[in-house]
Amino acid sequence: METGKPTNIRITIDPRMIGKITAVLHELSHVYLEEKIKSGDLFTEAAEECLVNGLETALHNYLLAPSRAELLASWNRAIERKLSS
Ligand SMILES: [Zn+2]
Repeated sequence: METGKPTNIRITIDPRMIGKITAVLHELSHVYLEEKIKSGDLFTEAAEECLVNGLETALHNYLLAPSRAELLASWNRAIERKLSS
């Protein structure tokens, strides 16, 4: 059934260049911005990249808080599961 929401998102990451979690946060932020505000219609590619870099940093800092260690671990497990499937 077509829901209009992105599904089967495939992200290609190079773990030699950046962390897996930050790469996933970065690419999912692009998907989120495009889905929620059609960012491609509003911003240049460079401007969207600035927004996404800010979201990536903020979300990564959120996950790195000591009180969210289990949440961070669950992201790691989910990414490793996806990488091995
Ligand atoms: Zn980007």
